[in-house]
Amino acid sequence: MVEVQRQIDVLLLEHSRLAAEFARTDHWDDEGSNTAIDWIRFNCNLTEKAAGDRIAVGSRQAEIAASVKAMESGEIGFSHLAVMARTSIATGPRFDEGRLLELARKVSPGKFYYESLHYRHSVDAKAYAAEQADLVENRHLSLSRGEDGGLLINGVLDPVGGAAVRTALEPLARRTAWDDDRNVEKRYADALVELACGGRPGNLQVTASIETVKGLAGAVGGEMEFSLPVSSTTVQRIACDCSVMRVLLDQESVVVDVGRSKRVISGPARRALMARDGHCQWPDCERPASKCDGHHLVHWINAGRTELGNLILLCHRHHWLVHEGGWQLVKTQEGVRAIAPTRVFGPAPPSTG
Ligand SMILES: [Zn+2]
Ligand SMILES: [Zn+2]
Repeated sequence: MVEVQRQIDVLLLEHSRLAAEFARTDHWDDEGSNTAIDWIRFNCNLTEKAAGDRIAVGSRQAEIAASVKAMESGEIGFSHLAVMARTSIATGPRFDEGRLLELARKVSPGKFYYESLHYRHSVDAKAYAAEQADLVENRHLSLSRGEDGGLLINGVLDPVGGAAVRTALEPLARRTAWDDDRNVEKRYADALVELACGGRPGNLQVTASIETVKGLAGAVGGEMEFSLPVSSTTVQRIACDCSVMRVLLDQESVVVDVGRSKRVISGPARRALMARDGHCQWPDCERPASKCDGHHLVHWINAGRTELGNLILLCHRHHWLVHEGGWQLVKTQEGVRAIAPTRVFGPAPPSTG
């Protein structure tokens, strides 16, 4: 593998020379591309970054000649070379190849890139700050509703803002238990939702009729700002921990209940529940109490009482599994047992205790 990669690196260098030569022509313009990078990424099937790396390496060959030699002899890889070329462009006359090459020989390309940013900052803090400011200027986030009601999120954050978001999401995106088979994208998605409403459901306002909450045949869906009609199982989940504001309408569309009734798990009842359970009670899940909803084992809509004996803590995902996912929770002497719906993929978790 090492030898094959070395041959690939040599070919990438050759490709870079051609790319730089091509970028100096206006052939790409004649063909209707906006930039040489655009032409290369479409015609050579590359990402924008990869096409940019090739042109950078090809056009800075003279400035990074010692690094090119080091790559040809297998001391560093093409990825190091790309960082070297980009750094040379960014630092101009202050570029010190010898010093950087020494470092490149010792560290991985990822680490080298990271260190190259420190280097850029050290030779020209002002230019580095201006680049960072440009990145902030490029920030954008678009939220649009797909035809199926889903939310499409697309955007770019500056490095510092992005790091703040990652810091908030990463702990929430860890696997919750041994049975957690969600991939990382799904865990990030759940983490974002949990960040928005987990533990402190805040201001979700759902409007639904009693028939919808009861899941009666013929009932319309619930309504929620920014969403399409919400299914009755989802309304039941949101209504389950009544810290969520809800408005129920009777048949004449009169508001009959604006949450905050004795079904609310609040004050002493919530503190007692949090102290008793400590974390999500799904077998093996340890999501802390602050990130959990209170769940009525027998829903209040079916006359279940809002008292400790009928309440347990569940994290966002496991609360979803119980309501929308069709799982059943049974309290036994040994603890809580989760029973899979009849149609399920993957193994069922064991009981705790
Ligand atoms: Zn519930
Ligand atoms: Zn859980």
